[in-house]
Amino acid sequence: MRFEELDDLYHATILEHRRHPRNSDRLEDPDITADGVNPFCGDEIHIQIALDSEGRVSRVGLQGVGCAINQATGSMLSDAIQGKTLDEVAALSRSFNDLMTGGPHSDGLGELTTLESVRQFPIRIKCALLAWSALDEGIEDYAPARSR
Ligand code: ZN
Repeated sequence: MRFEELDDLYHATILEHRRHPRNSDRLEDPDITADGVNPFCGDEIHIQIALDSEGRVSRVGLQGVGCAINQATGSMLSDAIQGKTLDEVAALSRSFNDLMTGGPHSDGLGELTTLESVRQFPIRIKCALLAWSALDEGIEDYAPARSR
């Protein structure tokens, strides 16, 4: 990999999130928990979500282990889902998946769009999707129990 490519891969925003991960304190009383592992890269992601009485995300705890892409994506995710309903979170996840797989995607991804540069490195796309696929599974597991 050439140096210029590395520079692009580790975009300043991505590096900043890795250095200062948001919402990294573990929640002790979460409504939803989600965990993911990417054995190829050694990435792990651990997510805890607390919902308010209206079913919106009120607090997030997220701990990422492994590469910068995984940690930065998790940090951005933990900001992006605040205040959203689970349906809105699922829609955001689909939109991010579309972004990373080159499909048409809606606006509203905010700084998550900086991860589009990772698409040049197909092997790292999984690193960017790990937190989101774990989140999807966590929401699916929780969904049967929630009252609509
Ligand atoms: Zn990784």
